[in-house]
Amino acid sequence: MKKIAIIGAGPGGLAAGMVLSKKGYELHIFEKDNQVGGRSKRLSLGDYHFDVGPTFLMYLEILEEVFQSAGYDLHKELDIIRLEELYTLMFNDVTFHMSKDPNENASMYDKYQPGMGKSYLNWLKAQEKKLNAISSILKKPFPNYFHFLRPDVLRALPYLHPFQSVFTHLSTFNKNHNFIHSLSFQAKYLGMASYQAPSIFTILPYLEHALGLYHVKGGLNQINHKMAELIEKNGGHIHLNSPVEEIIVDKGAAKGLRVNGEAILFDDIIINADFAYAMNHLIKPEHLKKYTPEKIEKKRFSVSTFMLYIGLDTTYDFPHHEIIFSKDYEAYLKGLTGNQFTDDFSVYVHNPGLNDDSYAPKGHTSLFVLVPVPNLSAEQDWSVYKEILKEQTIDLIESKHGIDLRNHIQVMKMIDPNGWANDYNVYRGAVFNLAHNLPQMLNRRPQNQFEDISHLYLVGGGTHPGSGLPTIYQSALILKKYL
Ligand SMILES: Cc1cc2nc3c(=O)[nH]c(=O)nc-3n(C[C@H](O)[C@H](O)[C@H](O)COP(=O)(O)OP(=O)(O)OC[C@H]3O[C@@H](n4cnc5c(N)ncnc54)[C@H](O)[C@@H]3O)c2cc1C
Repeated sequence: MKKIAIIGAGPGGLAAGMVLSKKGYELHIFEKDNQVGGRSKRLSLGDYHFDVGPTFLMYLEILEEVFQSAGYDLHKELDIIRLEELYTLMFNDVTFHMSKDPNENASMYDKYQPGMGKSYLNWLKAQEKKLNAISSILKKPFPNYFHFLRPDVLRALPYLHPFQSVFTHLSTFNKNHNFIHSLSFQAKYLGMASYQAPSIFTILPYLEHALGLYHVKGGLNQINHKMAELIEKNGGHIHLNSPVEEIIVDKGAAKGLRVNGEAILFDDIIINADFAYAMNHLIKPEHLKKYTPEKIEKKRFSVSTFMLYIGLDTTYDFPHHEIIFSKDYEAYLKGLTGNQFTDDFSVYVHNPGLNDDSYAPKGHTSLFVLVPVPNLSAEQDWSVYKEILKEQTIDLIESKHGIDLRNHIQVMKMIDPNGWANDYNVYRGAVFNLAHNLPQMLNRRPQNQFEDISHLYLVGGGTHPGSGLPTIYQSALILKKYL
């Protein structure tokens, strides 16, 4: 029986495990941590629970396919609800409450500025065509330039607008900056600014507005726990507390892994650990050509995040997802990607207790707070700055909501870019992986069948088609074509 190893039980590794678990292989997943999930794992601080990373779940059909591949029905295995309100967006001069119903959003935009509703509906129509055109590109491998001649790619070209950014593309529908920011902040899901992200990524807000945003009872971390359970039910093995030390390579082919000093042979190996970390730490440089540590260093990486996970002995009427935009959002985005820090930053606040009572005891709240910050290429003494940023972040939430948060804090944990790098093995703390600029997409992104070494494959946010849960799950489905 063919033996396959997966390094890492993050969403990518687990989805790959699901997809391969019915194929009759001997399957082993090695996870360094004491639980599955990676950047998407569950964090518990006493009775307060949190998702460490992802909280936005969309485009469910890909996850449905992952579950089907393993012989299960996603909706029977997990309790998933569609959110009535997508999110609340707090700008300086206006607050938008985005509904799951596009007609309600159109009226809301019209109230803010007559005619804006029409711009929004026109934008939605255009994105529908775009998604239909590009979805097949994202569902297939894209190993070289010849793939630009594929009929599906040629058909999609008129919709790609490769020389427009998300920001400039949206401005062709309406030039109002609050309109543009309300439909482009999603570029941050890729760790990029809207004026940099290629316009193809306007499909992200479209997926939310047209197909909905979802919540999983217990948190998105529960997807990982369920996948781990089903992989084991299908005969796979998950080894926790098992950091892989080295991928053993001989004559250009992956042969096995070194775990706890022991060499274990495998026929094929899949890397789910952060791509750039793996190239630096798991493979001897002499086996690499295209992705040596020196070449990785020259690549562009996403921003990082500063996190606060706060347990409170009270409740607030916060929405499920809320974004407080900085006063000068464009200057903030430019600074963020230019490695500069500012006091005028944006904050995302997640209050899942609104729809799910499993996060905190009755009358209490688990609040997840995310501030996008430059990754570790920016010079910053985080041992000092994290305290400053913590205070500023709490001040901002308190002043926006007119509340006293500090006096209700029972527990709190912070993660800064060093935490992502040291505890989660994320290169430069760039949590959304390699940036998604055109030189690092499609055939120019590390391929699912690794180019430098045979019998080695990639899954997760650092490979094709990209970072973010739907594309990460898709990277696992693409592996079906090779294994
Ligand atoms: C704060 C934050 C918010 C995010 N929000 C969203 C969101 O709302 N929606 C969305 O779609 N995406 C979001 N993302 C992005 C993305 O979905 C997650 O980061 C996702 O967890 C990445 O999955 P992955 O499988 O690529 O990597 P990881 O989750 O990092 O999984 C890799 C696994 O490999 C393990 N590993 C590493 N080194 C070794 C080793 N040597 N041996 C064994 N195991 C090893 C790690 O412990 C980890 O379990 C967010 C990310 C962060 C950090």
